[in-house]
Amino acid sequence: MTAASAAAAAYIVAGLLFVLSLAGLSRHETAKTGNAYGIAGMAIALAATIGLAARSLEAAAVGLIVVAMAAGGAIGLWRARRVEMTGMPELIAVLHSFVGLAAVLVGWNGYLSVERAGAAQTEVPAGLLGIHSAEVVIGVFIGAVTFTGSIVAFLKLSARIKSSPLMLPGRNWLNVGVLVAFAALTVAFVLSPNLGVLAVVTVLALALGWHLVASIGGGDMPVVVSMLNSYSGWAAAASGFLLDNDLLIITGALVGSSGAYLSWIMCRAMNRSFLSVIAGGFGTEGSTAAGTADGEHTEISPEEAADLLRTARSVVITPGYGMAVAHAQYPVAELTRQLTDKGVQVRFGIHPVAGRLPGHMNVLLAEAKVPYDVVLEMDEINDDFAGTDVVLVIGANDTVNPAALEDPGSPIAGMPVLQVWEAEHVVVFKRSMNTGYAGVQNPLFFRDNTRMLFGDARERVEDIIKAL
Ligand code: NDP
Repeated sequence: MTAASAAAAAYIVAGLLFVLSLAGLSRHETAKTGNAYGIAGMAIALAATIGLAARSLEAAAVGLIVVAMAAGGAIGLWRARRVEMTGMPELIAVLHSFVGLAAVLVGWNGYLSVERAGAAQTEVPAGLLGIHSAEVVIGVFIGAVTFTGSIVAFLKLSARIKSSPLMLPGRNWLNVGVLVAFAALTVAFVLSPNLGVLAVVTVLALALGWHLVASIGGGDMPVVVSMLNSYSGWAAAASGFLLDNDLLIITGALVGSSGAYLSWIMCRAMNRSFLSVIAGGFGTEGSTAAGTADGEHTEISPEEAADLLRTARSVVITPGYGMAVAHAQYPVAELTRQLTDKGVQVRFGIHPVAGRLPGHMNVLLAEAKVPYDVVLEMDEINDDFAGTDVVLVIGANDTVNPAALEDPGSPIAGMPVLQVWEAEHVVVFKRSMNTGYAGVQNPLFFRDNTRMLFGDARERVEDIIKAL
């Protein structure tokens, strides 16, 4: 067997492991196994690629690859071990930006080593040069959009810049204009590849990526994260074509299509069309309605909340981002165990965009060993609130906001939410009357059947456990 066919066989095995990994990651029960398949696939892919490259490279070049990989691996390990669960979305956004940057560099390298060097110097047959040029310009474009888009997403998610949408006049036309210019420049580059055109495409794509994400409002960020995930996949696939690497094409296509599917699921969950998200997000109308809800709120002590729970027959817990910040999942799991032992029916209602990552709450609850069968999706639980005695809203805000259904002028109007206010009693755990991620005031806090339990969610849940 030649080295090339051994590498091709290894790539097929790695590709299959990636498919198994995605299948595993789609269910809580199999997520760990899914991760293990992914790690194994990547290890095989790296070994095969380096093994193949080592045959045609000088020892010094192989040494450089090993040093770069060791440094990258060490930094990755260090970051991943230190990152808080609440910091994951930012980390993922940064990682997407690396994929984008890599695709831009691969594209530029492709141009410099083929078109610029002259067809005679390369292995690309003259008849296929046009295809190569198209791959270069498309790869650079997708990569550059992903790169700056992910950087803006990182800045927004880490609150380094405001999450409100940037509202340039005629912004949709700006985007359309860049796309039309890109199409024209691609044709120009394929007909006559030159540095100037590639540089202009790069700059336009960098600006488009920046503008696309900057003009999306806070509430639509979940879709943006999964959309950038998808872009990073397509950027990798484009690099795969340029590098003639089948595995990169397969992996890129897997990431690209699963990211696109996730974006579609998120859009459906938020009752948004994908195009309207791209064209400008929730909060686009400005924050006119953001502060309109007002009134008197009523507080409750942990002891009084414990009394409510003691007499309840059915309890639903709706966690949100605040549960992640407070690391409240552990006392919440303990409270669930104690109530269940007393014969109370305890279930969880999970909003598809609760937290800051798709599946964020599910991961936290699984970590705290809450049984999967009591963790229900929003659609599965929404009809049951009317028959529920007590709802505990643990650090959730936008995802339980009745204004989304009742106030057509609200920036989050139309987003399906957990209808917790239909229960007999609602206890909201948060530290203040501050708004959630979308910056919209929440009329739930002023309802007659709502009680506010202020303070860190973890400490308050522990207080309730003590009182019980
Ligand atoms: P929100 O972000 O709407 O609200 C979280 C609430 O938690 C805040 O009101 C905050 O209030 C409270 N909180 C914070 N820290 C603590 C603490 N230590 N103890 C108690 N409470 C705390 O959360 P939701 O989960 O309801 O909604 C998610 C939002 O994030 C949606 O707007 C969604 O679109 C967006 N988003 C989701 C992503 C995803 O993929 N899931 C990605 C990006 C954005 P206070 O400060 O008063 O304590």
